[in-house]
Formats: sequence, C-alpha cells, structure tokens
Amino acid sequence: MKILVPVKRVVDYNVKVRVKADGSGVDIANVKMSMNPFDEIAVEEAVRLKEKGVATEIVAVSCGVAQCQETLRTAMAIGADRAILVETDAELQPLAVAKLLAALVQRESPQLVILGKQAIDDDANQTGQMLAALLDWPQATFASKVEVKGDEVEVTREVDGGLETLALKLPAIITTDLRLNEPRYVTLPNIMKAKKKPLDTVKPADLGVDVTPRLQTLRVAEPPKRSAGIKVPDVATLVDKLKNEAKVI
Ligand code: AMP
Repeated sequence: MKILVPVKRVVDYNVKVRVKADGSGVDIANVKMSMNPFDEIAVEEAVRLKEKGVATEIVAVSCGVAQCQETLRTAMAIGADRAILVETDAELQPLAVAKLLAALVQRESPQLVILGKQAIDDDANQTGQMLAALLDWPQATFASKVEVKGDEVEVTREVDGGLETLALKLPAIITTDLRLNEPRYVTLPNIMKAKKKPLDTVKPADLGVDVTPRLQTLRVAEPPKRSAGIKVPDVATLVDKLKNEAKVI
C-alpha cells in the first residue's frame, strides 16, 4: 500500500510571529521555519504503518517555495521513501493545495493520504476535507488511532464525550490529531540517508492546476495589548467593577 503524506513548511511553533507594519500579513523574513507539527505526526504514522508491514511506500509532498525541500528532507529523515515538491512562489490557499494534491493522487494512486488536521500558520483546517471532496473519497478527520484492516481503515476520533470509530473503505483520506502518536527524533544517520533519497520537482502548470488565490486577505492585526490591572480596596468594589465595568457577572 502506498501512502501520500502532504507536509507544509510553516513558521516554527516556538517563534512569536510579528504582524507586518502594513497589516498585509505576518513577517516571515529571517524566521525559523519547520514542518507543520501535525504533518510530522502524519509522517510518523505512515512510517509506523510501513514498519508494521502494512505500507510499502511513503511519498511526502510539499507545495510552495524551493525551501520546502528542507521540509521534505525532514520527512524522508523520519522515514518517507521519496518526495515531490510542487514548486511555486505563489501564495497557496487550501483549495489550490487540495487541487494540486488531487492531481498528484491521480498520478501516484496512493491507497491512503494522511494530512495534518490543520496548518499552524493559516489554521484553516480545510485541505484534507477539500481533497476528500475533490476525489470523492471517504475521510476521517482528527484521527487519534489508525488501524488498516484488509481493504478498510478503522479510524478513532476524539469527539465530545468520548471516542468515535469509523471504518472507511480504501482509498481514503485521514487527518491527524495531536494524540495520534509522538513523532520520533530525527537522527543524524537518517538525515544523511535522507539526502540520497529521490526528490522530484514539478510545477503547478505541469499538474494542470490554476493556483490563483480565491480569497483576499483584507487585514492582519495583532491582538489588542493587555492593559495594566488595578488593585481594588475590598470585595465590594471588586464585585461592583465586575458587574458594572467588566459586565461579566
Ligand atoms: P490547512 O487546511 O491549511 O489547515 O492544512 C491542513 C493540512 O493540509 C496540513 O497539515 C498539511 O498536511 C496539508 N497542507 C496544507 N498546505 C500544504 C502545502 N502547501 N503543502 C503540503 N501540504 C499542505
């Protein structure tokens, strides 16, 4: 079974992002970039399926600028067998990424696509769902357990008040939640091995996909600064302020 794992290059989760002065977006110049954490979980899950003998090949895919190659090398250091970069400098929105991935699915014919549930930069939580719709494949989002059983995959999802288990006919789309697994550390020997693994590059036009953005960002703003607190002399004043100023009680 072949598994396709889309991995996005995003601002590292430890970086405190700053909004650009003109409010057009977030400043990513000279900022540490890493693989989207949910995508690391997706690669780890695919590698575990390969180690169990369920998967035979893992193909990592990233769509974006040339530097996404680093993200793909990391995916291969975790254990992906090869990688495809869909290279473009254009701003990519989830629908465009879903269309690129759908075109690659037609080329590669994987049985399973495992994506992150959301990218921590745009927080869209859309690409996996859109891909499932474009392909007309079953989907299980926010997976916390994945078990392949014959021509089906059983996916457990954390829902309000318990766990839901779905059985999907393969081929299928899965998106990962935080508790699915804990990705392994990438070791130096594996980083060296990953340098020798194949990495192909294609352009959106090669896949016949128009990636022109459909949505326009009007404004990006920092959250309002927290104002300094005050000390109140007694409980009565506190209750009065909560009631009449903050209006929370
Ligand atoms: P989003 O819908 O943007 O929150 O992203 C959800 C998931 O889609 C991510 O965790 C990735 O697995 C995948 N994805 C989104 N954008 C890209 C991209 N540019 N390249 C590869 N995978 C992506």
